[in-house]
Amino acid sequence: MEALKSIIRDVPDFPKEGIIFKDITPMLSDPRSFQTVIDTLKERYKDKKVDRVVGVEARGFIFASALAYALGAGTVLVRKPGKLPYKTYQKTYSLEYGEDAVEIHQDAFENGQRVVIIDDVLATGGTLAACADLVQNNFQVDLIEVAFLIELDFLNGRGKLGDLPIYSMMHF
Ligand code: AMP
Repeated sequence: MEALKSIIRDVPDFPKEGIIFKDITPMLSDPRSFQTVIDTLKERYKDKKVDRVVGVEARGFIFASALAYALGAGTVLVRKPGKLPYKTYQKTYSLEYGEDAVEIHQDAFENGQRVVIIDDVLATGGTLAACADLVQNNFQVDLIEVAFLIELDFLNGRGKLGDLPIYSMMHF
């Protein structure tokens, strides 16, 4: 895990001053590292009877689709407003300044399905809290866990996720 952590690149002041952006692209382009990430996730969920892996736009898609393939599960997309073509449910959430929203297709799940949500980084937790609401308030599914590659502990994003089970592969 230390090797994996060391391949995550810190980019200071991106996308704005004061933010240290965790750049996962060196990890994605390194075949061994990406394989380690997906194998670790597969190992964690392989006996959990996962039906659908939900990826959060955009970097979450990369991990959701690879994990779903590895598990023989399906992939579901949570996207920014206006991107999904079919009927959607929407959840708005507040940002530091203003609002944002996430959407999911209304036929994303069948009742009783077992679901994992995945994103690259847990920062303040606002995005994932909205995604979890979107899934839990509109569907009768079993949200087994929310998973992240990286958790930024100092932002306490966990605090926003209530009692949802959370797995973070790396902590900073
Ligand atoms: P949040 O809603 O604050 O938890 O932010 C979550 C989303 O913003 C995730 O999808 C991340 O991709 C992105 N994000 C937030 N902070 C960072 C950061 N420091 N480095 C990389 N991505 C970040």
